[in-house]
Amino acid sequence: MTRFMGSLDNLNDAKFVIRGYPYDGTCSYKPGSRFGPAEIRNHSEGIETYSPRFDMDIEDIPFFDAGDLEFPFGDRDGVLERIELDAESLLSQGFILFGIGGEHLVSLPLIRSAHRNHPNLHVFHFDAHMDLREHYLEDRLSHATIMRRVLDFLPADRLHQFNIRSGTKEEWQFSRENGILKGHPCDQLSQLRPETPIYVSIDLDVLDPAVFPGTGTPEPGGLTFIQLVEQLAAFRGRNIIGADFVELAPNVDPTDVSTIVAAKLIREMMVIANG
Ligand code: MN
Ligand code: MN
Repeated sequence: MTRFMGSLDNLNDAKFVIRGYPYDGTCSYKPGSRFGPAEIRNHSEGIETYSPRFDMDIEDIPFFDAGDLEFPFGDRDGVLERIELDAESLLSQGFILFGIGGEHLVSLPLIRSAHRNHPNLHVFHFDAHMDLREHYLEDRLSHATIMRRVLDFLPADRLHQFNIRSGTKEEWQFSRENGILKGHPCDQLSQLRPETPIYVSIDLDVLDPAVFPGTGTPEPGGLTFIQLVEQLAAFRGRNIIGADFVELAPNVDPTDVSTIVAAKLIREMMVIANG
């Protein structure tokens, strides 16, 4: 198996673990995010391990790319269960978990497990979409409802959304009533103690489709790559216990640029989370 560039050969001594979740079973428009993890690995060799922006090389960060989980694909509950069991094992051992989707629903078991291991968890969510629907086509479990399901166990004042530009009227109303949509991560972070456990969920469609066309539900009006990295830089020195990178559908972008964007973002985020 190809591993993400700079990965150790085994779990020993790793601080970070990368795990892939090749699942897109509830995707509502263009499917293909199941191919995300493998393509990110393949194309990661096309960029450098050194980050000029942060003057750090991920070869100097002990991380292990543990590969993809295997799924009973048609069995959504079985898929979510496997993700949660696996995350539970990694998070309880103290690894910082970097999850690669797959669609956004894979974040639900990840965040649930992160919350179980860190009861005072705060979730920072970057996305074009709110993902706060109660139902999507009468279904409560979908990439359009993921953050609403997170609120089944996480108090709403610990979910912070950024750069959202799409949602139903009901979602926007719910978000306003609960104060979920925020301006810049800096403002929220300044209100939290440095040791507060933080989970960062990045739906890559937060980026503008001109930067990142390879996604199942593109939404115009998004961030540039540099704008996103500058927002994420605010997390340096914070206690990030896990992060995910979801909704890359590499088959939708024949240039593979979106895949490179995802790989570079994972590199920068690892440097940021390393402290
Ligand atoms: Mn989205
Ligand atoms: Mn999403």
